[in-house]
Amino acid sequence: MAKVAKETQGAGKKKKKGMQGKRKCPKCDRIMGVRVTTCDCGHVFIPKAKKKSGGELSLGKITDLIEQAGGLSALKKALSEYNRVVAPIEALGGYDAAQAILSKVEEIRALK
Ligand SMILES: [Zn+2]
Repeated sequence: MAKVAKETQGAGKKKKKGMQGKRKCPKCDRIMGVRVTTCDCGHVFIPKAKKKSGGELSLGKITDLIEQAGGLSALKKALSEYNRVVAPIEALGGYDAAQAILSKVEEIRALK
């Protein structure tokens, strides 16, 4: 999985002196680090939704990725195959479930 390089964001963001990396619990006013997700008082900080990385794929990057996939036609074929192959497995509840059903069927057939 390719990680997208972090963008330098926050132009015009207000910086409070001494408050960097800190936040205040709205419930008990305790100051704590931003990485703390649950306050001692029980308040849970809901993490902000991550910015979608859509639109960050440049044409060059796309070309590279398609090449990795073995070319555009290979990618298209793989995608259409994926649906055809995976849909019936997912209908059974996933790979393991499908495997279990299959072995059960073979078991029953063997008994006949
Ligand atoms: Zn608190």
